[in-house]
Amino acid sequence: MRALIFSDVHGNLEALTAVLKYAKRHRIDQYICLGDLVGYGASPNETIQKIQALKPLTVIRGNHDKAVAGQDSMETFNPIAAAAIQWTKSRILKKNLEFLARLPKGPLTIDKIEICHGAPFDEDFYIFGEYDAIEAFEYLPFPLSFFGHTHFPVIYSKHGDQVAGRFLSGPVNLLKIEKGFSYLINPGSVGQPRDRNPRAAFAIYDTERLQVRFHRVEYEIAEAQKKILQAELPAALAERLTLGL
Ligand code: ZN
Repeated sequence: MRALIFSDVHGNLEALTAVLKYAKRHRIDQYICLGDLVGYGASPNETIQKIQALKPLTVIRGNHDKAVAGQDSMETFNPIAAAAIQWTKSRILKKNLEFLARLPKGPLTIDKIEICHGAPFDEDFYIFGEYDAIEAFEYLPFPLSFFGHTHFPVIYSKHGDQVAGRFLSGPVNLLKIEKGFSYLINPGSVGQPRDRNPRAAFAIYDTERLQVRFHRVEYEIAEAQKKILQAELPAALAERLTLGL
């Protein structure tokens, strides 16, 4: 089984399209989305509908999905993120809003992997470093788990009491899953990467080969930016896409 694992699309249809185009050329048996389908980007409806059409699909909610659905107080949102939420609320179609409102809360178990948006003990918590990962490992029922939310592709591995983090760079990275290790993996963000690499990030988990391959693909950034500016969303949301910030 090969699962496409992706997160934080944030209404960036151009980035999502590029990822799915890549997926189409390779065998994918299952789609797993770790939340934040909307917020920031200018194509919330098209993004939701494209993700919804993937089969079979497992998807959990992110904090931006909750905020658009009115399920989050938005206290932690900065002014730009909050403005994007208000804009998304004003544009989202009823059927898509209902889809967001029904998204399950993480963590969720699927085929002996644990998935969450933020952390297994709190869907809104950011796992930013090894200390956060140490806590998160305590909550994991399986050796393999995936999370999103931070927009940084990273692997945390645990062997005995040792927890180590490895940030990923370059176009492709490979993780061979080893016996006796536990892993907490972030595939990075499709629609708003923040590791100074503007390419859309995602991962493919192969259960037969016991490996996770991390990918980056180019997409039409200029088109995504044009839509953001035309929509009169904050210009910073367009600028950061070029920088990968
Ligand atoms: Zn996000």
